[in-house]
Amino acid sequence: MRILLVEDEPTLRKQLRDALTEAAYAVDLADNGRDALHLGQTEPFDAVVLDLGLPVLDGLSVLRQWRQAGLTLPVLILTARDSWHEKVAGIDAGADDYLSKPFHMEELLARLRALIRRAQGIASPLLHCGTLALDTRSSRVTLDGQHVNLTSHEYRLLAYLMLRPGQVVSRTELNEHLYAQDFDRDSNTIEVFIGRLRRKLPPDTIETVRGLGYRLTAAPRAEP
Ligand code: CA
Repeated sequence: MRILLVEDEPTLRKQLRDALTEAAYAVDLADNGRDALHLGQTEPFDAVVLDLGLPVLDGLSVLRQWRQAGLTLPVLILTARDSWHEKVAGIDAGADDYLSKPFHMEELLARLRALIRRAQGIASPLLHCGTLALDTRSSRVTLDGQHVNLTSHEYRLLAYLMLRPGQVVSRTELNEHLYAQDFDRDSNTIEVFIGRLRRKLPPDTIETVRGLGYRLTAAPRAEP
């Protein structure tokens, strides 16, 4: 899952980036409204964390322009302390959720998880596919109740597919949503991680749809 983080305050930006990276998100950064506006319109993000007080172009203007351009991606705004009118203006401009500064990182991560799964029409934080379960809160994956040990990249890939069960997801889409812009993307990378995931999961869990991409299927449980 790829996040656009827009924050001009360097210390907070670094804290947020570290926390988001730790939570297995790919993170792109912007420190002013103009860059944020451009990135949001040109790169496919799964969610945005948008500070409202920004240089060059303020966050509300950025958000309004994204919505006017038809962008539907989930946006969580960061507002100044005790500024209820900023929250109202932000939600009216198209924000999906807000947090007032200062906030707890855990709360930001929880709200972001909810926004991302809601965008896929999923209400529960626990995702299932056959005997495979993925808990988005703890980043834990189990198979028949047994823990499956995944690297951060493998987890990202599996979580992206599990939020879209039965849908064909192209390699390009995976590349664009799993890695930040500055990452050296290579379509073979996805194949490598798909291969590694397949070795850890039941056969046929990740189906290759020739020429189109990959699809997560609820592999039938073997009859005893
Ligand atoms: Ca600011």
